[in-house]
Amino acid sequence: MGIKDFMKKMADKQAETNRKIAEKREKHEIEMQEIKRKRDEMLDAMHPFSGSKKRLEKEYQKERLEQLKKDHVPFCPKCRSTNITFVTKKLSLGRAVVGGAIGSVAGPLGTAAGATMGGLSSKKGKVKCLNCGHTWKIK
Ligand SMILES: [Zn+2]
Repeated sequence: MGIKDFMKKMADKQAETNRKIAEKREKHEIEMQEIKRKRDEMLDAMHPFSGSKKRLEKEYQKERLEQLKKDHVPFCPKCRSTNITFVTKKLSLGRAVVGGAIGSVAGPLGTAAGATMGGLSSKKGKVKCLNCGHTWKIK
């Protein structure tokens, strides 16, 4: 056996070893993923309202709130429900007055929001949550 054959054999063996290691690593990763998946499934089964589902729900609620704020949709500060009603108190207050007042209170940046709220709150005053009964003033 010449030195070239020997070198070739060594190279082949090295390649074979590398391939086996790569295979093993891949298999290990797949196994780990499988274990993780099974664990998540088990956790979800044991605690239907916790784990990954709860995290997803939390994420969803966060996104929803961000969207509500962006759209200037009023929602209950207590339970975050949008199922709210405007309590009518001072019907004499006009839409423009309410909108203007809100605009000045909120500052120049809030004028657009104030006008929107003014339109919504033309019946005036307080908001009541139909979900939890919480009442609050429109800002
Ligand atoms: Zn509420």
